Amino acid sequence: MIINDEPARTIGILKKYNLMPRKKFGQNFLIDTHVIEKIIDAAEINSDDCVLEIGPGIGTMTRHLCDRAAKVIAVEIDRDLAKILKEDILRDKENLTIINEDILKVNVDELVEKENGGRPIKVVANLPYYITTPIIMGLFENHVPMESLTLMVQKEVASRMCAKPGTKDYGALTVAVSYYSECYLAANVPCNCFMPRPDVMSAVVRLKVLREKPVNVKDSDKMFAIVKAAFGQRRKTLQNALVNAQGINCTKEKVAAALESMNLPPLARGEILSLEQFAEMSDFLG
Ligand code: SAM
Repeated sequence: MIINDEPARTIGILKKYNLMPRKKFGQNFLIDTHVIEKIIDAAEINSDDCVLEIGPGIGTMTRHLCDRAAKVIAVEIDRDLAKILKEDILRDKENLTIINEDILKVNVDELVEKENGGRPIKVVANLPYYITTPIIMGLFENHVPMESLTLMVQKEVASRMCAKPGTKDYGALTVAVSYYSECYLAANVPCNCFMPRPDVMSAVVRLKVLREKPVNVKDSDKMFAIVKAAFGQRRKTLQNALVNAQGINCTKEKVAAALESMNLPPLARGEILSLEQFAEMSDFLG
């Protein structure tokens, strides 16, 4: 039987350094050994890998990552935590680089070039929930070389990432995630696995980055402008949602013609279109 000594360890660290978890940084520390193992297993880390951990916190998962990977780069926004990790908690980990920065301000592409010679990294994180989507989209849109992302996110966000067209969870995030990766739900995680407990359920998702895009689209920026407009006004028909939307420049008649050519009903809403159909519509609207 594995003994879970993480709650006592976490309390000990918080006491020793007189720390209060900071809500503004989304600090909910993982205190369940089983969950940490599930994340590391889902991430399929091996001894050649370079791992980027976003938000190492008090280093609970970082320690395990350092034991499995060739190299770990951990980016932590909280100056106090970064200092404690460097000078004390993870001082013994020679394959660890700690960067005290806001991940949204880091040029991750440059970092991967410097730390891993531009070869793809694996991203592993118990993400701060207040900026989950900007972090994921930032990594994808900046074409950071990555093999996979294994992420703890709010359960509701995990459901949106893995949703199917026509369901209530299907949206712009689903389409974006499926353009760049294959997504699967690795585990559901209850609130009592964290200290302090978050108000929402969590889940671990694994995104395997696709080497080739699953659809050919002439202008992906245009396609994502269409996706954004379609889901920004979810209850509107596509004909109404796309007219006058930024970055699209089309008439109602043109959208109607696109729908007809794709054998879709004239009053169709964005929520029924698959990624392939968004690509087709984007090419038709030219
Ligand atoms: N990995 C730790 C664990 O699992 O116990 C902590 C996870 S906690 C949910 C999120 C961590 O991300 C915190 O350590 C927080 O300070 C850090 N963080 C929040 N915003 C950040 C940002 N913009 N850039 C880098 N780290 C950030």
